[in-house]
Amino acid sequence: EKAEWQKLKSEQTTSKDGKHPILAANIGTPKDLPGVLENGAEGIGLYRTEFLYMDSNELPSEDDQFEAYKEVVEGMEGKPVVIRTMDIGGDKELPYLPLPEEMNPFLGYRAIRISLDRTEIFRTQLRALLRASNFGQLWIMFPMIATLNEFRQAKQIYLEERQKLVDAGQPVGDIKLGIMIEIPASAVLADKFAREVDFMSIGTNDLIQYSMAADRGNERVSYLYQPYNPSILRLVKRVVDACHAEGKIACMCGEMAGDQIAVPILLGMGLDEFSMSATSILKTRSLIKRLDSSQMKALADWAVTEAETNEDVKQKVEETVSEI
Ligand code: PEP
Ligand code: MG
Repeated sequence: EKAEWQKLKSEQTTSKDGKHPILAANIGTPKDLPGVLENGAEGIGLYRTEFLYMDSNELPSEDDQFEAYKEVVEGMEGKPVVIRTMDIGGDKELPYLPLPEEMNPFLGYRAIRISLDRTEIFRTQLRALLRASNFGQLWIMFPMIATLNEFRQAKQIYLEERQKLVDAGQPVGDIKLGIMIEIPASAVLADKFAREVDFMSIGTNDLIQYSMAADRGNERVSYLYQPYNPSILRLVKRVVDACHAEGKIACMCGEMAGDQIAVPILLGMGLDEFSMSATSILKTRSLIKRLDSSQMKALADWAVTEAETNEDVKQKVEETVSEI
């Protein structure tokens, strides 16, 4: 098996009927790059920049950020790199940026909510990203977007920083702007978001947590982490369909994207990019190679219309794939 995966390293991901979804990697630092390249990733679908802030004793400077982003974008040699603006808060704390103590940190002051409030921190990050965009294909993604107005505000600040660089005679690349879909409200309103963003990436770790009202780190309620629950699958399909109706790119960067039971269904829904831990890429490429996307579409349609439980879906996918 391992030997077969190795052969797939330099191959494009191709389903049995010739579809080419992109298999990308999730990273936390430029140090993850060798592993990404070794596993034949076709891009980076999620660079979690908060580690840059967490591994430091002070806010990282614009130049420090620029160097890190440039290293990743350059290292990927023109393949798309999705860089997420900082997702601090929730369970991720910064010693030098004291946040108020909250009853429900996961429902509190975090991610884009901090960026839109502490705009000087956000502007610094955006300038570093804009400058790094000259070295490859850089996409910017905003985390924890709940409303259209949040996206519009973030985009406005981005456009202002972009214009300042242009006015100063500095080059900037062609950047795609997108959002994470990890809050049920934005999944439900995906058709409206699709008109304004260039891409969406479904963050299933949080989307499942918030949809099921079950803390993703709490063992006692871990049975509610149900990626194949038809309620979750309906949200995912809604997002993919909304993107495609507007000609936008539908990605997923939560754990579900590399889940071998979910992959056949996601292929059937027509997901454009699957972003996962680098070590899952080759086995997923091998799985997709054996799958026919129209057969998987029938499976996905059944899962969102007929299936009732997480277990129903799991069982049906296992049966279908084992017959292939
Ligand atoms: C997610 O929520 O699915 C996600 C990819 O982001 P994180 O795991 O960093 O919250
Ligand atoms: Mg998340």
